[in-house]
Amino acid sequence: MTSPVTALAYPFRQRFLNYQEINDQLEAWARAFPEFVRLQSIGTSVEGRALHLLTIGREPNRDRPSVWVDGNMHATELSGSSVALAIAEDFIRLHAEPDFDAQSLPPHVRDVLRELRVYVLPRMSPDGAEAVLTTGRYVRSNPRDRRPEAHRPRWVSRDMDGDGLALLIRKEDPAGEFVESREVRGLMLPRELEDIGPFYKVFPEGVIEDWDGHTIPDPYFLGDNDTDLNRNFPWSWAPEPEQEGAGVYPTSEPEARAVVDFVTKEPTIFAWLNLHTFGGCYIRPLGNAPDRKMNPFDLAVFRQVAQWGEDHGGYPTVSGFEEFTYEPEKPLHGALADYAFHQRGAIALVCELWDLFAQLGFARKKPFVDHYTMLTRAELEALGAWDRTQNQSRIVRPWRPIEHPQLGRVEAGGVDPRIGMSNPPLEQLRELCARQSAFFLRLAAMSPRLAIPEVTVEPLGADLHRVTAVITNEGYLPTHILESAKELPFNEPPSVIAVGRNGAHLVDPKGARRALGHIDGWGRGKFGGAFALFFQRSRGSVSRREACWIVRGSGSVEIRVESCRTGTVTRTIAIGERH
Ligand SMILES: [Zn+2]
Repeated sequence: MTSPVTALAYPFRQRFLNYQEINDQLEAWARAFPEFVRLQSIGTSVEGRALHLLTIGREPNRDRPSVWVDGNMHATELSGSSVALAIAEDFIRLHAEPDFDAQSLPPHVRDVLRELRVYVLPRMSPDGAEAVLTTGRYVRSNPRDRRPEAHRPRWVSRDMDGDGLALLIRKEDPAGEFVESREVRGLMLPRELEDIGPFYKVFPEGVIEDWDGHTIPDPYFLGDNDTDLNRNFPWSWAPEPEQEGAGVYPTSEPEARAVVDFVTKEPTIFAWLNLHTFGGCYIRPLGNAPDRKMNPFDLAVFRQVAQWGEDHGGYPTVSGFEEFTYEPEKPLHGALADYAFHQRGAIALVCELWDLFAQLGFARKKPFVDHYTMLTRAELEALGAWDRTQNQSRIVRPWRPIEHPQLGRVEAGGVDPRIGMSNPPLEQLRELCARQSAFFLRLAAMSPRLAIPEVTVEPLGADLHRVTAVITNEGYLPTHILESAKELPFNEPPSVIAVGRNGAHLVDPKGARRALGHIDGWGRGKFGGAFALFFQRSRGSVSRREACWIVRGSGSVEIRVESCRTGTVTRTIAIGERH
């Protein structure tokens, strides 16, 4: 028998969905499961597309520990949307199918996951993704350019040979920097000294705007699309020219602004997965300093997360600063995951989906970022050969002669990076989705879990009772989540308040609320606690607090543990004769 969730599934594990299909999928879930799926738009793109956010979990308005997943903030990175949808679907199954094993997690961990509130933004750049899906053109985030400077010759992507796609053009030139591979027809290689030609210039398929008739401008990855959303977030934002693609001010882009507006009102978010492609690695903080500058508890937590990344996600984890700065020791500015970690206090990481290099058998490079630029000719040809045998030749496309209105005789075609380079072959999407969900479900299960496991009522005579509540954190993480997040203004330590009802009154109403301080969970991160073989010991009552009140009269007392960071837990107890 097909489960109701399976029956509703759009083919996001088989191919990349367009904007309308993603919306249809989200609406289908929200319609079928109104008790635990809510769909809302948190903003609108410049081309008028809604930025749809899914909230999963019963009572979506009740504050409690929450997690966030977003995908496809970079337009070509379409498989991020598939993975985000797969994670959403697994959380929906947790609620809809009691027997669902949640990527092999035991029942008590599934209970933790069912208590969470889960936010999923499957496609942060719908305009960009739509342009990539329809034309294959290169767009970093969004296919728009609102820069005021005119009369600046530049390349503008456009289909020139009538096949609907905007890929590359090449033109023979004795000063060309490229040659065609002899091993893999059509594959362009950086020219080497001994090469005998023909030599080529390679440009985007398109036209030169504001052309002077002879000078060909350098193509530039933000040549006709002005802002990289992942440089537009507020934490450590820096303007051009210090940071390419920054945008004119932090959250100048409606997509970035929508995310920041929404999450600013949700201090409960403690885990954040920012999905990108490609490479096959997780990038964790710090992005701006080496590990020795990182808080040791935070580092131990990320070490545990990295272990799940290795075991379940299948990728190594690297420090942003140590292995993912494009220029050594020059941190990126305005990146989303940095904002989520430093400013929102979340266990935030980037996943670069699709381990192309590992699948080609390349040795792991260190720093990891060298995989993208330090490829040998043999490695490029291995990629071309793999494309032919394992990827149905989706990347290396035939070159076809055309007459270009500005450059004369050129050839169009070359490389379609969408499937096999920027994203995995479609045949691998299903496994990618399952593995990344298995990873993220474990990260989400680190949630702090406040509880009031015990309330005792002792009669003191003369219509008085002493009410004692035990408050515990039974989750992995402390209520402040990360040590480095403790000082954030919204990182409020929980307090407990007692409210007398139906004839019961606190003798000292001013003492109704008690500060509890932050409460540790049981987790210490990997290699983070006192687990030395020669001295295996626990900590004392770091996960437990007690509070008591004197109550007069009969009725009930509501005990409420509150913090904007971890939400609210309540328990009500009867007092006096009306037991
Ligand atoms: Zn990206």
